[in-house]
Amino acid sequence: MAEKGFCVKCKESREMKYEQKVTMKNGRLAAKGKCIKCGTGMYKILGNKK
Ligand SMILES: [Zn+2]
Repeated sequence: MAEKGFCVKCKESREMKYEQKVTMKNGRLAAKGKCIKCGTGMYKILGNKK
């Protein structure tokens, strides 16, 4: 159930490891994790789903 996000370092979509769901300041849900390839921190906006 890994979310995919865009890694700015690889410049490609990657699955995230250590994925966590977080709520951002504006109330949006996001997934936070690390690139499986290079370990760069990445975010994926999941929208307003509760
Ligand atoms: Zn990467």
